[in-house]
Amino acid sequence: MKCNVAVVYMHDHLDGDLAREEMKQLQQHLSECPSCYTRYESLERTDALVRALPIEKAPDDLSARIMKSLPSRRRPAAWTSWVRRHPAVSAAAIFMVVMLSSFVSMWNQSQEFSVSGPDLEHVIIEGKNVIVPEGQKVSGNLTVVNGDVQVLGDLDGNLTVIDGHLTPLASTAHIAGEIKTIDRAVDWFWYKVSSFFGTLAYGS
Ligand SMILES: [Zn+2]
Repeated sequence: MKCNVAVVYMHDHLDGDLAREEMKQLQQHLSECPSCYTRYESLERTDALVRALPIEKAPDDLSARIMKSLPSRRRPAAWTSWVRRHPAVSAAAIFMVVMLSSFVSMWNQSQEFSVSGPDLEHVIIEGKNVIVPEGQKVSGNLTVVNGDVQVLGDLDGNLTVIDGHLTPLASTAHIAGEIKTIDRAVDWFWYKVSSFFGTLAYGS
């Protein structure tokens, strides 16, 4: 399959209009073509965002107008025609999605790195890397903010990683408590996005 055909199939799929056989071809292409895969992922996110527009909160005539302008079921590539009819909302949605990645990395850079726990003696800290070494036993909880965590040994408590990165656990690793990863930047961003679209709908 060529990339331009794959893009048409992606839109059809997001509209729910893609036949099973074509779906297989698309999946095949996405597994071989990284650039189409990336494109598909961002289309999917934009699609979810557009669907999440708080239509029910909007004034009645606005929802009626939106419902009327929605393309009919059988029309091919309906999603693209929706985008063409609503360029402002679509551009805003795409802009938001594109901003997310740069925003998250900016946020993570601005956060202070910190490690806390009752037993840091047995933890290796190199720059922003926090390592529980193989064969080592660390007692109590371990909390890392804005760092890379790698567990090769034993942790006798909970592991919490905030705005950081947890390397998949090594086979030698053992964590007695819970593992939690929290991304505050993403939560905050989605809160902002939804309140932004809330204002848009009310204001129209
Ligand atoms: Zn491709």
